[in-house]
Amino acid sequence: MTRVAIVGGGLGGAALAGALAKHHEVALFEKGRGFGGRMATRQTAGYRFDHGAQYFTVEAPRFAALLEPLRAAGVVAEWEGGEALFREGRRLDVTKPRRPRLVGVPGMSNLVQALAGTVDAQFGVDVALLAERQGSLWALSDVEGKPLGSFDLVISTATPRQTIGLFGDRVPVGHPLRAQRMVPCYALMLGWDRPWKEDWVSARIEGGKLGFIGVNSSKPGRDATTTALVVHTTPEMAEVLLDLAPDEIARRVQTALIEEAGIDASDAALSVVHRWKSARMAHEAALGPWFDVEQGLAATGDWAGRSRVEHVALAALDLAASIHSE
Ligand SMILES: Cc1cc2nc3c(=O)[nH]c(=O)nc-3n(C[C@H](O)[C@H](O)[C@H](O)COP(=O)(O)OP(=O)(O)OC[C@H]3O[C@@H](n4cnc5c(N)ncnc54)[C@H](O)[C@@H]3O)c2cc1C
Repeated sequence: MTRVAIVGGGLGGAALAGALAKHHEVALFEKGRGFGGRMATRQTAGYRFDHGAQYFTVEAPRFAALLEPLRAAGVVAEWEGGEALFREGRRLDVTKPRRPRLVGVPGMSNLVQALAGTVDAQFGVDVALLAERQGSLWALSDVEGKPLGSFDLVISTATPRQTIGLFGDRVPVGHPLRAQRMVPCYALMLGWDRPWKEDWVSARIEGGKLGFIGVNSSKPGRDATTTALVVHTTPEMAEVLLDLAPDEIARRVQTALIEEAGIDASDAALSVVHRWKSARMAHEAALGPWFDVEQGLAATGDWAGRSRVEHVALAALDLAASIHSE
């Protein structure tokens, strides 16, 4: 039995916690208020938004097997409905997605929480750069210096930059993790107290400032008597918006929404922006998880596979298998 600390309560951390809990003593630390990370769900003024990942697909049988009990329990379900394509302000097409699109129920974060199982999770804990190792143990503390316990193995599921911030020079100079760059995204969350009327539930926008629109109120287990819309910008648009005030960002995204998809949000009952400073990898890295047995350190994340839910989960399972085999 090894004492394992997992930093991060997103999908990677939760999948690891679930996979390691049977054989190890696991503690999970997350600086946010709950499980989710980039699969977080926010409830504001009665509307429910998955403001990060909108849905995921399943290819690998291993991922399907991981989800099976959650599907049976109703925590994962299919998001049905068509996807529109917009180009230069014109709607070109509405098509049925090629593969079933799955979501957490009633929110994405419920899926993440369910994967983590009954792990000892502490929220609102910002883990600090590791201090010197004492024998074979890492004494963890938060950024205020509060001790969090001693562990044989520390696993980071944070972004590459944050992982370097945690592990410092224990990640070898020249390791490709150090070279990974991420791009931002803004999410505009819009709410109306009336049902959605269009014949599509999501939209892709080509060649514009926006990338994706998701009608979150049309997902299973949500309140379809209202409309909850999540609008994601492209990384290029997000770079332009980075230094602006939230009201101005909301105004510019709303302008793009009417120009690119014909949706007028001027009468929305709610309009809130969220910045994902590190939304996705700039380039798919597929490095595989990092596990240094000698140092008692490991890391995984979307840099280990691809910036998709399925690949993050599979990378976490791969890392758990390597830890089991030690
Ligand atoms: C806007 C957006 C849209 C997306 N859309 C899709 C989609 O439709 N389909 C799809 O498959 N994928 C999508 N993705 C990608 C997918 O969401 C991510 O790849 C996946 O959720 C990453 O999970 P993770 O556990 O690796 O990282 P994260 O979810 O980022 O989890 C890492 C966690 O570590 C925590 N943390 C960091 N440092 C510390 C510290 N020092 N102490 C404590 N905690 C710390 C963070 O708070 C965070 O919660 C999207 C992502 C974004 C941002």
